[in-house]
Amino acid sequence: MSTFRVEPQLLADKSALVVGVGGLGCPAALALVRAGVGRVVLCDDDRVEAANLHRQILFDERDVGRPKLDAAFDTLRARGGTEAGILRVHGRLLPDTARALVRDVDVVLEGSDNFATKFLAADACQLEQRAVVHGAAIRWHGTAWLVPPGGAPCYRCLFEDVPAGAQQGCSEAGVMGPVVGFLGALMADLALRWLTGDASAAGSILSYDGKRDRLRTTAVPARRDCPLCGQRRIAELIESAYVSGICTA
Ligand SMILES: [Zn+2]
Repeated sequence: MSTFRVEPQLLADKSALVVGVGGLGCPAALALVRAGVGRVVLCDDDRVEAANLHRQILFDERDVGRPKLDAAFDTLRARGGTEAGILRVHGRLLPDTARALVRDVDVVLEGSDNFATKFLAADACQLEQRAVVHGAAIRWHGTAWLVPPGGAPCYRCLFEDVPAGAQQGCSEAGVMGPVVGFLGALMADLALRWLTGDASAAGSILSYDGKRDRLRTTAVPARRDCPLCGQRRIAELIESAYVSGICTA
């Protein structure tokens, strides 16, 4: 039987920022560490909750109440990560820190479940010319897509701005553990391909339907009037106004 894996030496000098160590970030971070990515930065400010254990695979019952990053660090260390290769940023991705965090890595994996963080990650990555993999999952559905540095299409080509009013998150709508696990692994797949020179996934959004066993690839057209990557650029995109109710899947 043959096996395939990315040669570790290709990834030893690469780095990734995982925004949100939840249902998407847990499997994504594990895949990155196991693949040999030299520096994996985790960003989260939550504690482990029993109700989320079904999808947050880096944690178990003994971790309930602990900061997620500490529990994730222990699990990733036990599964092959080095102490120097797993960094913890205890806090949310916020406008005053986002650009510096993004600037310091080769790729960003954004798996938060709120639009404020998603837009902030998209804006920071565009301004700092960094690749970003966006992931989202709810109930039986999920999406993942890669936006290359300075990329068009970008997140704002598809979702123009932070929607007004209350948003339904994972805690209210629910999400299936296997679906979010699959999407987290898919995010890592896109990131690893990018880190090893394969940008073929850029420009398309991958949509998974866990009830119909269907993975669709849909091209996202870049909008000429996109405020982030198009001609109608807004002057200052990192604004505190869109940071509200940030949480992670
Ligand atoms: Zn755009």
